Amino acid sequence: MRASSRAAGTVAATCVLLLGLLTSGPTAASADEVEHRRGTVTSSAPYLMPMEPYAGYQPQTSCQRTPKPGVLMLADWLVARGGGYGPISRSCSGSSRSEHKESRAFDWLLDATDPTDAALAAALLDEVFAPDDTGQPHALARRMGIMYIIWDDTMYASYDGFVAKRYLSSGCRTRRTCSPTLRHRDHLHVSLTRKGTKGMTSWYYAQAASQPSTSPAARELGPA
Ligand SMILES: [Zn+2]
Repeated sequence: MRASSRAAGTVAATCVLLLGLLTSGPTAASADEVEHRRGTVTSSAPYLMPMEPYAGYQPQTSCQRTPKPGVLMLADWLVARGGGYGPISRSCSGSSRSEHKESRAFDWLLDATDPTDAALAAALLDEVFAPDDTGQPHALARRMGIMYIIWDDTMYASYDGFVAKRYLSSGCRTRRTCSPTLRHRDHLHVSLTRKGTKGMTSWYYAQAASQPSTSPAARELGPA
């Protein structure tokens, strides 16, 4: 069921892409995209646990170089759609604050100038911020423990209700002089809460329950 809904999502994303290519101007394409976003609803069926509230900001305070199961699971889930597997952990040297230093962030390698990658990012944002079938907004993002996403000069933070906000890195004075990396146009950054990173929010438990052969517990036990 999960695989088929993922396949359906891929087909839908492909259709949006094809419509974008077939229609003549950006106005028609963006109208299609808006229509698609409005219609997306995710399922509440896989979950036994209630949906998590919007997470507050949990800044990086320590150094943790070994990724925990949640962030690894989310990274696999993202890269299964396409794109590339970017860094989770980062050197703790320097004074800048980054969830990567706590291995609480994943960089999904996508190129904003590539239509396929841009469609992958749009489909991901559409899916994680969609309401579920009980009307709860931003359902998957909350269940995954997403603290914020930055992609293509735009930030979506749980503590701002995931409202899209224009983003400019503190390392850049203007967008024009800012690198594709700092503008997040060569990767989509996801920061997780501490609970999400550990795989201790409802989405991770549901993933493990639906795929027992690949759950961390099953891996530790080895093949039966
Ligand atoms: Zn990052």
